[in-house]
Amino acid sequence: MSRVCVVIVAGGKGKRMGTDVAKQYISIGGKPILYYAIKAFADCKNVDEIILVTQKDEIEYCKSQIVEKFNLPVKTIVEAGAERQDSVYNGLNSIDDCDLVLIHDAARPFVTSTIIEKGIKFAEDFGAAAPGVTPKDTIKVKGNDGFSIETPDRNTLFAVQTPQCFKYKMIKDCHEKIKNANIPVTDDTMAFEMFYNKVFLYEGDYKNIKITTPEDLILAESFINKNNQY
Ligand code: C5P
Repeated sequence: MSRVCVVIVAGGKGKRMGTDVAKQYISIGGKPILYYAIKAFADCKNVDEIILVTQKDEIEYCKSQIVEKFNLPVKTIVEAGAERQDSVYNGLNSIDDCDLVLIHDAARPFVTSTIIEKGIKFAEDFGAAAPGVTPKDTIKVKGNDGFSIETPDRNTLFAVQTPQCFKYKMIKDCHEKIKNANIPVTDDTMAFEMFYNKVFLYEGDYKNIKITTPEDLILAESFINKNNQY
């Protein structure tokens, strides 16, 4: 059996939400968004260790108001970095020993056990895997002049979600390389593709949204109200 660690990155400020409090601490259904993200992994029998990454001045809050309050099995809380990739790097560096690592955005509270279990299996088989969905909209490539450049075939497009799942040594190596070379990435699959192989993309869930703007909170509340599984 592979030893599986999860790094949950919660070090963002969530500027697009427009609230004083970072979006991962906003309450939905009476509990903070971050609670649901951690709980989904805590309930998964194949997960061995959960590491939380957050801003230095939020560590104490996360410890007392989320981890201890809801009795969540978080092993370590690590200090976040300036960018998401720095936070991931710090999380990966805090791990002593594991075979697979799942990297998850705290802002995705509706990740399911099916998505997690599939990610573990596919990362074991292929080295790297990520869930996602076919975009519902037609996606355009837009030029700086404001005009369309092209319209990629929608069936080839995939809106990638988290957890992104990897063999630990490989993704750690990628993050070390992008840090040393100062290469910006928007997610971890992008780092993996630069130095290793392709990433296996599997079916996620349209409900596995990343809460980003105020409309997402309305959707999130309705998911919670309609489904007492959370
Ligand atoms: O801003 P965005 O929604 O893309 O952030 C994705 C995830 O990365 C969020 O869960 C956020 O808390 C996290 N993040 C982080 N450290 C940063 C920036 C973002 O852990 N410096």
